Amino acid sequence: MLADNLAAVLARIAAAAGRVGRDVAEVRLLAVSKTVSEERIRLAVQAGVCDLGENKVQELTRKRLALGEMDVSWALIGHLQTNKVRDAVRHADEFHALDRLKLAEALDRRLQGEGRGLDVFVQVNTSGEASKFGLAPEALTGFLDELVHYRSLRVRGLMTLAAFDPDPERSRGCFALLRRLRDEARQRDPDLIGPGELSMGMSGDFEVAVEEGATSVRVGQSIFGARALPDSHYWPDESGLTPPTGER
Ligand SMILES: *Cc1c(COP(=O)(O)O)cnc(C)c1O
Repeated sequence: MLADNLAAVLARIAAAAGRVGRDVAEVRLLAVSKTVSEERIRLAVQAGVCDLGENKVQELTRKRLALGEMDVSWALIGHLQTNKVRDAVRHADEFHALDRLKLAEALDRRLQGEGRGLDVFVQVNTSGEASKFGLAPEALTGFLDELVHYRSLRVRGLMTLAAFDPDPERSRGCFALLRRLRDEARQRDPDLIGPGELSMGMSGDFEVAVEEGATSVRVGQSIFGARALPDSHYWPDESGLTPPTGER
């Protein structure tokens, strides 16, 4: 069942890449395992998953320690509070939601203490929804310029969450905008955007994301089944839940 879901997602990624003449090897599947039990994560890894994504640092830390014997990579893909950088730095292999300099500074300081670097994606708010985390598109250039000061952070590219809409075509504009921002940043100064990867696309819209240039898609429910917890538990959107003061 889980292996069938995984195979189906991979086939859909390959088909989407094929439609736009992309090499499917350019697209990495991050299996988003939030709320998923360790037992089922093991099954997914046995079925071929090698990259896992978790939204919350506490959950990532707990699962990583419990599943330490598995040769997999863990991406932290959700909003991170500055007071939680310690676990992020210790346990995440990459971080997809860098959206403010205060956080960059806190991560960099910790990383220097641990003597390691961290792959990061800069999160951009491409939907214009006020409740979403991420930099405003027009703030990206200045942000990338500042990031060079934080030497432990290795910028790999950009990340976004598209507008919430049951119609995946509505996500296309968000994804196209992220790609355009990447292209513009590259043109201005290719050193500031690293390999210029694009982390975008989830269960509802990953095929559109691949068509628009995604290099990492973050897919949970299409692999593991529907989550019991509403997304508002993980995202500030729509829930009325606001980020802690001083954290934006
Ligand atoms: C949960 C989550 C996803 C995956 O969503 P699904 O609907 O399970 O595919 C992608 N990105 C982020 C940041 C998430 O929190």
